[in-house]
Amino acid sequence: VQKWIEDLSRRFPGLVIKPGEPMARHTTFRTGGPADCLVLPATRDDFTGVCDFCRNEKVPLFVIGGGSNLLVSDRGIRGVTLSTAGLDRFSIEGNTVFLGAGAVISDAALETAKRGLEGLHVFHGMPGSVGGAVYMNARCYGAEIADMFTAADLYAGGRLERAVYRPEEWDYKRSPFQKGGVILEAVFTLNGGDAAVLTAEAESHRRDREEKGHYRAPCAGSVFKNNRNFGEPSGVIIDRCGLKGLSSGGAMVSSWHANIIVNGGGATSSDIMNLIRAVRSRVFEQTGFDLEPEIIPAGDWEGYDVAGA
Ligand SMILES: Cc1cc2nc3c(=O)[nH]c(=O)nc-3n(C[C@H](O)[C@H](O)[C@H](O)COP(=O)(O)OP(=O)(O)OC[C@H]3O[C@@H](n4cnc5c(N)ncnc54)[C@H](O)[C@@H]3O)c2cc1C
Repeated sequence: VQKWIEDLSRRFPGLVIKPGEPMARHTTFRTGGPADCLVLPATRDDFTGVCDFCRNEKVPLFVIGGGSNLLVSDRGIRGVTLSTAGLDRFSIEGNTVFLGAGAVISDAALETAKRGLEGLHVFHGMPGSVGGAVYMNARCYGAEIADMFTAADLYAGGRLERAVYRPEEWDYKRSPFQKGGVILEAVFTLNGGDAAVLTAEAESHRRDREEKGHYRAPCAGSVFKNNRNFGEPSGVIIDRCGLKGLSSGGAMVSSWHANIIVNGGGATSSDIMNLIRAVRSRVFEQTGFDLEPEIIPAGDWEGYDVAGA
């Protein structure tokens, strides 16, 4: 590890490299052990250069955006953990918006609303980056990223590609980027609208989240996907099984929303993983529905029975 960290700093002077960085500082659950090395490039060239370095040197690479949908192992992440935070371009040409993968989706949502552009505004208040939202095909308030996504610059296999929107590649919580590659930038086509109305709507969505307790304790939003075949949202099913308040170590099914697990203070990622598995099996026993986790386990979970991975 020490050797390739030295190689990286020699090849990319000025690159911010944090060996042994605790990932709890970079996830919304506020859990997760040390990354061998967290790398924060400030330029696109350095970013793709680090990707090339990892490919050539066979160093494992994990890309992190806002860390708001991740459960990072208490043992941390091996290899390079590459942050997109420095890729924060924001530019608008007519109804077309160009957003760097590391741009904060909530800020972009509010800014486009203020400029009288409709579509992304629903994401105001949702944590995370543009790249993470595209990767996850994030959705809320009746809209999803696929509705407005036009194209992305993707870095895959040492090459820059332009990935254009193809409807058959998108579905509920599914995007083509889950097959591989790193999103550098995304392009969205939005509709024109009334800036004052859209801004008020964006702000009311953020308030709604606040009232629903999204920001009350460290969490990663919904733990389980909704499944139309189950007839009701996962949160309603979990609640009916009487699991609000169920806990494992410092992790607890929140009392205000049954599909949100919170770090009630001092939780480890293992506590959260154990609780996800407990909820999943209790719901299965009581209803026969097998809930599918939405949260992504990341890092070194070897030897661990990872729910949904
Ligand atoms: C309070 C709260 C509320 C939430 N509400 C919602 C909601 O309403 N709707 C919803 O859909 N989600 C919601 N979420 C979950 C989360 O905010 C979204 O999934 C978000 O889009 C994740 O973005 P991120 O940047 O944090 O991704 P991360 O958690 O950092 O990463 C998620 C995945 O994306 C990959 N990834 C990230 N960036 C890139 C990139 N540039 N290229 C390739 N892969 C990449 C990562 O490797 C990882 O596999 C909520 C979370 C919280 C904490």
